[in-house]
Amino acid sequence: MKSIKSVYKIGNGPSSSHTVGPYHAAYKFRKRWPDADAFRVTLYGSLAFTGEGHGTGNAIKTGLPGAEIIFNRDIPEDELPHPNTMLFEAFKGGKLLGSNRIFSIGGGSIRIENEPSDEDIELYPQNNLSDIIHMCHQRNVGLAQYIYRMEDVSIRDYLKKIWSAMIDSIQRGLSAEGILPGGLGIERKAKMLYEKRCYNESADVAMNRVIAAYAYAVSEENADEHIVVTAPTCGSCGVLPAVMYYMYNDRGFPEEEILDALAVAALFGNVIRTNASISGAECGCQAEIGSACSMASAALATLYGLNIDQVEYAAEIAMEHNLGLTCDPVKGLVQIPCIERNAVAAMRAISSVNLSRFLYSTRKISFDEVVATMYQTGLDMNEKYRETSHGGLATIYS
Ligand code: SF4
Repeated sequence: MKSIKSVYKIGNGPSSSHTVGPYHAAYKFRKRWPDADAFRVTLYGSLAFTGEGHGTGNAIKTGLPGAEIIFNRDIPEDELPHPNTMLFEAFKGGKLLGSNRIFSIGGGSIRIENEPSDEDIELYPQNNLSDIIHMCHQRNVGLAQYIYRMEDVSIRDYLKKIWSAMIDSIQRGLSAEGILPGGLGIERKAKMLYEKRCYNESADVAMNRVIAAYAYAVSEENADEHIVVTAPTCGSCGVLPAVMYYMYNDRGFPEEEILDALAVAALFGNVIRTNASISGAECGCQAEIGSACSMASAALATLYGLNIDQVEYAAEIAMEHNLGLTCDPVKGLVQIPCIERNAVAAMRAISSVNLSRFLYSTRKISFDEVVATMYQTGLDMNEKYRETSHGGLATIYS
């Protein structure tokens, strides 16, 4: 399995596969052809259907100024090598210099056709969670220690940078007000949720309201095309930071322990990415929000000092009850249902951890099994529900 570092990427929202990935692809392609005087980029599949709402054209033009962008919606998805396919072409004096097909494979990662990627270096001999847990039991180490042994020495600095970017996105989101771009007229709600204490509010209600406010803050920053951290994607970027920031800011857990929890969350995201998918275009929202919910559950269980089996069970519960979740963003924007869905998933992560504390010894389904199920469910899912805005809320509400 590859480094956990590629699970978290800092970049502009609103979509890791539709903005972060295409931006990096454009930037990389421009460096290949410094003498070109014109570029053309053709988008296919989900990028063609929802790229306008997701701001894909702007993201590509940031990396490749002046590029002509074509949204080709004529090729059926089953004739494409990947649901998020881009054809980059460089010209000089009207003559084609070169081209590449580049795939945005989820979470901001890209793959250039027929080329190995920088992210292809294998650091972990284990590829699934059962093998990882087996190794941890054999060596008598926890999941965080296992990760630090496998990664290079820069891992803690990297996690610190990620955590600091997550905090920034929450704080910016909590102080911002106004209408989100895109035409749906959606007002930012994070600040209001954070400040709106109910009369006689119980501790439980306050906790849920504050966590929801944090999730809204990050997701609204994402919808506004500001900087967020993929966790594991932009669309699902509010879940993990919301839960971790609550534990840090409101419950006083130290940063050192938050970093360990983030490392464990990334390990779970990495297992999902390796064995299934974290892309809404490939497997629906279960692959984005389901993965984020699983990661947040694993992180929270780690922070509470639960044992490895409880951590695994918390992550399994979180994914299991997101199975089948479709991706149907209204107008191709990452707003409805995405923002609210981040808040609900953050609360669900807490419930998953609470259940896992008491019931882990009775469980029947492993994390690896639920990941395999999520993947198969995603492959079976009708294309309408995989980030094309051709079904569900996207067609009912306009
Ligand atoms: S519905 Fe889910 S997968 Fe689809 S864009 Fe929104 S957050 Fe991402």
